[in-house]
Amino acid sequence: MEGPSAGWGKWSQPGVPHKGWTCVGFEDLGQPELVCDMCERQEIRYVHYMEHPDYAGTLSCGCICAGHMEEDLVSARRRETRAQSAAQRRTRWLGRKGWRRSAKGNIHIGVDGYHITVFRGGCGYKAVISKPASGFKHFGKRAFPTEPAAQLASFDALEFLKGRDEGDSH
Ligand SMILES: [Zn+2]
Repeated sequence: MEGPSAGWGKWSQPGVPHKGWTCVGFEDLGQPELVCDMCERQEIRYVHYMEHPDYAGTLSCGCICAGHMEEDLVSARRRETRAQSAAQRRTRWLGRKGWRRSAKGNIHIGVDGYHITVFRGGCGYKAVISKPASGFKHFGKRAFPTEPAAQLASFDALEFLKGRDEGDSH
Protein backbone atom coordinates (compact mmCIF):
# COMPACT_ATOMS: atom_id res chain seq x y z
CA MET A 1 0.00 0.00 0.00
CA GLU A 2 1.52 3.25 -1.17
CA GLY A 3 0.62 6.73 -0.09
CA PRO A 4 0.54 8.44 3.31
CA SER A 5 -2.14 6.31 4.98
CA ALA A 6 0.04 3.26 5.50
CA GLY A 7 2.85 5.39 6.90
CA TRP A 8 5.68 3.49 5.30
CA GLY A 9 9.17 4.91 4.91
CA LYS A 10 9.46 8.69 4.72
CA TRP A 11 5.70 9.16 5.17
CA SER A 12 6.30 8.68 8.90
CA GLN A 13 9.75 10.25 9.03
CA PRO A 14 9.84 13.61 10.86
CA GLY A 15 10.94 16.56 8.72
CA VAL A 16 9.74 15.13 5.43
CA PRO A 17 6.89 17.24 4.03
CA HIS A 18 3.76 15.36 2.96
CA LYS A 19 2.41 18.04 0.64
CA GLY A 20 3.62 20.82 -1.61
CA TRP A 21 5.92 18.72 -3.79
CA THR A 22 6.40 19.36 -7.50
CA CYS A 23 7.07 16.79 -10.17
CA VAL A 24 10.21 17.99 -11.97
CA GLY A 25 10.72 15.01 -14.24
CA PHE A 26 9.47 11.63 -15.28
CA GLU A 27 11.19 8.53 -16.61
CA ASP A 28 10.32 5.04 -17.81
CA LEU A 29 13.02 2.64 -16.65
CA GLY A 30 11.70 -0.10 -18.92
CA GLN A 31 11.18 -2.45 -15.96
CA PRO A 32 10.77 -2.18 -12.17
CA GLU A 33 14.29 -1.20 -11.13
CA LEU A 34 13.87 1.13 -8.17
CA VAL A 35 12.05 1.27 -4.87
CA CYS A 36 10.03 4.42 -4.29
CA ASP A 37 12.05 6.88 -2.18
CA MET A 38 8.99 8.03 -0.26
CA CYS A 39 7.29 4.84 0.94
CA GLU A 40 10.54 2.89 0.54
CA ARG A 41 8.43 -0.09 -0.34
CA GLN A 42 6.83 0.09 -3.78
CA GLU A 43 8.91 -1.18 -6.71
CA ILE A 44 8.65 1.25 -9.58
CA ARG A 45 9.28 1.25 -13.30
CA TYR A 46 7.85 4.73 -13.96
CA VAL A 47 9.72 7.30 -11.90
CA HIS A 48 8.17 10.59 -10.85
CA TYR A 49 11.00 12.91 -9.74
CA MET A 50 9.73 15.03 -6.87
CA GLU A 51 11.19 18.15 -5.28
CA HIS A 52 10.14 20.37 -2.38
CA PRO A 53 11.41 23.80 -1.27
CA ASP A 54 11.87 22.50 2.29
CA TYR A 55 13.60 19.26 1.35
CA ALA A 56 17.12 18.90 -0.03
CA GLY A 57 17.46 16.67 -3.04
CA THR A 58 15.11 14.91 -5.41
CA LEU A 59 13.02 11.88 -4.53
CA SER A 60 12.28 9.17 -7.10
CA CYS A 61 8.70 8.14 -6.45
CA GLY A 62 5.90 5.87 -7.61
CA CYS A 63 2.62 7.11 -9.00
CA ILE A 64 0.53 6.94 -5.82
CA CYS A 65 3.10 8.55 -3.55
CA ALA A 66 3.83 11.25 -6.14
CA GLY A 67 0.12 11.97 -6.51
CA HIS A 68 -0.29 12.46 -2.78
CA MET A 69 2.89 14.53 -2.50
CA GLU A 70 1.71 16.98 -5.17
CA GLU A 71 -1.94 16.57 -4.09
CA ASP A 72 -2.89 15.77 -7.64
CA LEU A 73 -3.46 12.06 -8.16
CA VAL A 74 -5.02 12.69 -11.56
CA SER A 75 -1.90 14.35 -12.97
CA ALA A 76 0.36 11.66 -11.59
CA ARG A 77 -1.87 8.97 -13.05
CA ARG A 78 -1.94 10.78 -16.40
CA ARG A 79 1.86 10.91 -16.61
CA GLU A 80 2.00 7.20 -15.98
CA THR A 81 -0.82 6.29 -18.38
CA ARG A 82 0.78 8.31 -21.16
CA ALA A 83 4.12 6.63 -20.59
CA GLN A 84 2.51 3.18 -20.60
CA SER A 85 0.73 3.95 -23.84
CA ALA A 86 3.95 5.29 -25.38
CA ALA A 87 5.84 2.18 -24.26
CA GLN A 88 3.26 -0.03 -25.96
CA ARG A 89 3.34 2.01 -29.15
CA ARG A 90 7.16 1.98 -29.09
CA THR A 91 7.23 -1.82 -29.19
CA ARG A 92 5.01 -1.71 -32.28
CA TRP A 93 6.80 1.23 -33.90
CA LEU A 94 9.22 -0.66 -36.15
CA GLY A 95 6.42 -2.88 -37.41
CA ARG A 96 4.11 -0.03 -38.34
CA LYS A 97 2.61 -0.33 -41.78
CA GLY A 98 3.42 3.23 -42.82
CA TRP A 99 7.18 2.73 -43.22
CA ARG A 100 8.27 3.09 -46.86
CA ARG A 101 11.64 3.11 -48.56
CA SER A 102 12.45 6.01 -50.84
CA ALA A 103 14.24 5.80 -54.20
CA LYS A 104 17.37 6.96 -52.37
CA GLY A 105 17.04 3.99 -50.03
CA ASN A 106 15.93 5.97 -46.97
CA ILE A 107 13.17 4.53 -44.83
CA HIS A 108 10.47 7.05 -43.95
CA ILE A 109 7.00 7.35 -42.45
CA GLY A 110 4.28 9.95 -42.04
CA VAL A 111 2.47 10.00 -38.71
CA ASP A 112 0.19 12.49 -36.93
CA GLY A 113 1.17 15.35 -39.23
CA TYR A 114 4.90 14.67 -38.87
CA HIS A 115 7.26 13.13 -41.40
CA ILE A 116 10.22 11.06 -40.28
CA THR A 117 13.13 10.01 -42.48
CA VAL A 118 16.06 7.86 -41.42
CA PHE A 119 19.17 8.35 -43.51
CA ARG A 120 22.84 7.35 -43.49
CA GLY A 121 24.72 10.12 -41.77
CA GLY A 122 28.43 10.12 -41.06
CA CYS A 123 29.22 6.99 -39.08
CA GLY A 124 25.73 5.51 -38.83
CA TYR A 125 22.06 6.32 -39.15
CA LYS A 126 20.30 9.53 -38.21
CA ALA A 127 16.70 10.67 -38.25
CA VAL A 128 15.10 13.90 -39.30
CA ILE A 129 11.59 14.85 -38.21
CA SER A 130 9.65 17.51 -40.05
CA LYS A 131 6.18 18.93 -39.73
CA PRO A 132 5.20 20.04 -43.25
CA ALA A 133 2.25 22.12 -42.07
CA SER A 134 4.45 24.40 -39.97
CA GLY A 135 7.78 24.10 -41.80
CA PHE A 136 9.33 22.67 -38.62
CA LYS A 137 12.40 20.47 -39.09
CA HIS A 138 14.49 18.73 -36.45
CA PHE A 139 17.66 16.75 -37.18
CA GLY A 140 18.63 14.16 -34.58
CA LYS A 141 22.09 14.87 -33.24
CA ARG A 142 23.17 11.32 -32.59
CA ALA A 143 24.12 8.76 -35.19
CA PHE A 144 23.02 5.18 -34.45
CA PRO A 145 24.82 2.01 -35.50
CA THR A 146 21.73 0.47 -37.08
CA GLU A 147 18.71 1.72 -38.99
CA PRO A 148 16.20 0.26 -36.45
CA ALA A 149 18.03 1.99 -33.59
CA ALA A 150 17.65 5.32 -35.38
CA GLN A 151 13.97 4.52 -36.05
CA LEU A 152 13.39 3.87 -32.33
CA ALA A 153 15.17 7.09 -31.39
CA SER A 154 12.89 8.90 -33.81
CA PHE A 155 9.89 7.52 -31.91
CA ASP A 156 11.17 9.03 -28.65
CA ALA A 157 11.85 12.36 -30.37
CA LEU A 158 8.38 12.31 -31.92
CA GLU A 159 6.74 11.64 -28.54
CA PHE A 160 8.63 14.57 -27.07
CA LEU A 161 7.63 16.88 -29.93
CA LYS A 162 3.98 15.83 -29.74
CA GLY A 163 3.96 16.39 -25.98
CA ARG A 164 5.46 19.83 -26.49
CA ASP A 165 2.93 20.73 -29.18
CA GLU A 166 0.08 19.66 -26.91
CA GLY A 167 1.52 21.77 -24.13
CA ASP A 168 1.62 24.77 -26.48
CA SER A 169 -2.03 24.45 -27.42
CA HIS A 170 -3.30 24.57 -23.83
ZN1 LIG B 1 5.88 5.19 -2.74
